[in-house]
Amino acid sequence: MEIYYSIFFFLFGAAFGSFYNVVGMRWPAGKSIVQPGSHCDACQKPLMALDLIPVLSYVLLRGKCRQCGEKFGAFHALIELFTGLLFILAYVHFGFTAELIVALLFISLFAIITVSDICYMIIQDKVLLIFGSLIVIGRIISPLTPWWDTVAGAVFGFGLLLLVSMFSKNGMGGGDIKLYFVIGLVLGVKLTFISIFLSSVIGLIVAVFLKRGFGKTIPFGPSIAVGSLIAYFYGSELFDWYTSLFF
Ligand SMILES: [Zn+2]
Repeated sequence: MEIYYSIFFFLFGAAFGSFYNVVGMRWPAGKSIVQPGSHCDACQKPLMALDLIPVLSYVLLRGKCRQCGEKFGAFHALIELFTGLLFILAYVHFGFTAELIVALLFISLFAIITVSDICYMIIQDKVLLIFGSLIVIGRIISPLTPWWDTVAGAVFGFGLLLLVSMFSKNGMGGGDIKLYFVIGLVLGVKLTFISIFLSSVIGLIVAVFLKRGFGKTIPFGPSIAVGSLIAYFYGSELFDWYTSLFF
């Protein structure tokens, strides 16, 4: 019953997305991720159980606090929505295989990073360390072919970004470079290359769209997230299509 599993994975993902919002918002600010419980930042009143339902509560409350009417903004609800949708995509793409674990970890990492990078321009070392370790375990259970492509991908991703950062004065942060080590573990060399290419294009479009000059830095993390997830799910097909244009 694929449809029921899809619904399950959406709810599962949206619930985790809600938690990743909290992690991405509170950890970089040095706050506990368990205490206090979810509350309105404006009136400090705790949210009611019904207001904690991911995505749905935002729609029902029209993005306002039930008690004081403060607007919440759609950002956190969108994180929940996309985490849920990407969990469905992962399930549909891989089914109940070991790779599904890697996929869910990969999506989770990007959900947290997107929040912390947009809110604070920070990609935390401890987030990279935790997910890097879990992904190494995931890649032992579900190895790439050949298995050492994991190691090669990590070295390649980290090395290429380090090189780029040395030649470009701004834009690339240390967090982005370390992030590409973890991305390389998941993707291997070829897809890491595609991820860097896509992320750069997306990052450039975002920079133009936000009408900011190259002097100002904009968070690159969300562009890396989008580029890497496209590379992960569709990179091989994209690569074959692209090379077929020339050969
Ligand atoms: Zn309030």
